[in-house]
Amino acid sequence: MAKRISVVVSQGPSKNPVKRKLEEDIVAALLFENGIDVTVVPNLYDIKPDSTGMLALKSISGNMIVCSWLFERAAHWVLDRNDISGQVGKILLQDAYEEEEGNEFAEEDLENAPPELKSTVVSQREITNRKIYCLDLKASTRADDFIAEAKRIQRANLVQVVSLNDVISGGAMQRLDTPTKDTAITKDGSGIEGLATSGLDIGPATVKRIENSQGRRWYPVIDYSRCTNCMECIDFCLFGVYGVDRIDTILVEQPDNCRKGCPACSRVCPENAIMFPQHKTPAIAGSAEGNASMKIDLSQLFGGPADGKSAEEIAAIERDEQLLIAGRDAVGMQGLERRHSVTTAAAPKDDLDKLLDQLDDFE
Ligand code: SF4
Ligand code: SF4
Repeated sequence: MAKRISVVVSQGPSKNPVKRKLEEDIVAALLFENGIDVTVVPNLYDIKPDSTGMLALKSISGNMIVCSWLFERAAHWVLDRNDISGQVGKILLQDAYEEEEGNEFAEEDLENAPPELKSTVVSQREITNRKIYCLDLKASTRADDFIAEAKRIQRANLVQVVSLNDVISGGAMQRLDTPTKDTAITKDGSGIEGLATSGLDIGPATVKRIENSQGRRWYPVIDYSRCTNCMECIDFCLFGVYGVDRIDTILVEQPDNCRKGCPACSRVCPENAIMFPQHKTPAIAGSAEGNASMKIDLSQLFGGPADGKSAEEIAAIERDEQLLIAGRDAVGMQGLERRHSVTTAAAPKDDLDKLLDQLDDFE
């Protein structure tokens, strides 16, 4: 297991001076820490798969902290679509949307979900033990808060290294096993700063900058912890964005075919698994709002107009707009009628409905 931890700072898509200052303050403060390798890259969402920025991210092994202007969930799945995958690292610094009760995005959600909710794409996959901690730079205006969170994560990782006893001489291990008043490394990792002089040489911080930017992009990002591979999105999109891999799992095959500003397919995904990380509506941009395991009114969540249109109707209008702009014919609700009628009719209660009713009664 790596002794050092990598921190990626993903710059905002605009040159907003306030955002840029926060990014640079974080980088500057991290340089005073030991055991941290900092990589500064352009906006994570905009980086192309074959670019220097993505190659730099792919070269990082071990646990990684990613600071970006994207919601935690969006950042995690943007990395995943570029084959940078790992477990979701638990973070404590979250922005207001993520902190609302019931909005946490955690591995435990999947663990505790009823069996019918576990048939997601991610539940069929092997995921490495590596952890990726995605920090949303919108969570605070203070660089100190991000440094504190990065150090907390680093400490937790070092405690794991120490407890595994796989990289160090006896000194640090002894401090964990038989702590004295002055040298204790507690279970939460405090006291670990002195490790560099006691056997675990974590060394000074380094920084690498990748400056190239290839312009703004717009494409859907799939959250495979929610996606059930139902194929609604591939049927709905008429621009050839979606495809399937060798084992028939949905993927975003031609991301740059997506129509800039169009979020239509995110409204028709029954699991709220499709994100457009740069969209102004938090639920579409990937906030933890609208957990797929909870009953929600998606049209309200996605900021639907007040004239009572359903999410499917709004999606059809948005798709038609893009078809007309592209010089093609509008298709209206084509392909959506069946789903629309199912979702608007009073469907009989299934097992999940009954379980939720029981939970309501219990409360
Ligand atoms: S519509 Fe949603 S759940 Fe269905 S395949 Fe597409 S992303 Fe997955
Ligand atoms: S947003 Fe529109 S163009 Fe883009 S993938 Fe979805 S339906 Fe296709």
